Amino acid sequence: MAMITIPEFPKTKKLKSLAVLTSGGDAPGMNAAVRAVVRYSIANDIEVFGIMKGYSGLLEGQIEAMKLSSVANIIQRGGTVLKTSRCPEFMKKQVRKEAAYILERKGIEGLVVIGGDGSFAGASLLEKETGFRTIGVPGTIDNDIFGTDDTIGFDTAVNTAIEAIDRIRDTASSHGRLFLVEVMGRNSGFIALSTGIGGGAETIVVPEAEMTLPMIRKSIERGMNRGKTSSIIVVAEGPKPGLATRIGRGLEKAGFDSKICTLGHIQRGGVPTAHDRMLGSVLGAAAVAYLASGKSGGMVGITRNEVAFTPFKEVIGKKKTLPKVAMALAEILAT
Ligand code: ADP
Repeated sequence: MAMITIPEFPKTKKLKSLAVLTSGGDAPGMNAAVRAVVRYSIANDIEVFGIMKGYSGLLEGQIEAMKLSSVANIIQRGGTVLKTSRCPEFMKKQVRKEAAYILERKGIEGLVVIGGDGSFAGASLLEKETGFRTIGVPGTIDNDIFGTDDTIGFDTAVNTAIEAIDRIRDTASSHGRLFLVEVMGRNSGFIALSTGIGGGAETIVVPEAEMTLPMIRKSIERGMNRGKTSSIIVVAEGPKPGLATRIGRGLEKAGFDSKICTLGHIQRGGVPTAHDRMLGSVLGAAAVAYLASGKSGGMVGITRNEVAFTPFKEVIGKKKTLPKVAMALAEILAT
């Protein structure tokens, strides 16, 4: 990742204290973001609190003042030291009002929410209904958040999947086998696309593009005709996980024997890559700088290698499109 500048810290800051939480699915690199929020706040004389277990911990009042040492030795750890949760109660307006009251009673003036689209929906409503200032930091392995080119955790997940593909390829080429590797991505094919290109897959199946069984067969046959003895097909799990198995069954009926490997949760954990640590550090600090300069009700992300602020209403519920150029490139490079 190129060096990215963070927004300038304002001469007169618009808040004296803030809190940070992680919510929804965990992602490697979230700890780097938490660490940056804490240390960048303290460096600028802002009192900073850590909230455990996302919105659930907030409602339970699990809020602790953070010191520089509270975030020592965490940058290299996967998951999130603040823990995370799914909190259905937060869907209720009355509960969000209660949350704002809990924060205000502690003297907290702003909230940094590290999470995905759902967590941002909660943060956005909290601000709209109560005026409590919030800012989002995109942390999800899926990279499916609109308004940012990159999310914290995506690079690590792709690297994990590529490492697995490299190992599978050793077996695939030794035995002359066809492997279907299922990666994460219910609604989006970003992990599959990057894994497929970086791992040299013969075919990539993603929810965004039509890929029928005959099309898959054709790509395998094309490889065989040019002397390939093994193939790797990367499949995004899609809305109903187990897609690789279903494709495998279909291929079997057509006379192709395949092996299935579902990577599952190993893609979510693990040591964050340098890229995700850097991204988490930059976005965490940028979130504090924006809040201090009076910006809130939106997400801090990366657009064309620049830190950018996007209002929540332009982020939430929008679908980030998979670049068609990259899909076409994957096909060209696999031939
Ligand atoms: P992610 O943030 O990774 O997309 P979820 O969609 O599970 O994960 O959302 C995390 C949490 O955010 C939910 O458990 C809930 O507390 C809160 N949340 C999600 N959607 C909404 C919503 N529409 N209104 C209020 N809170 C929400």
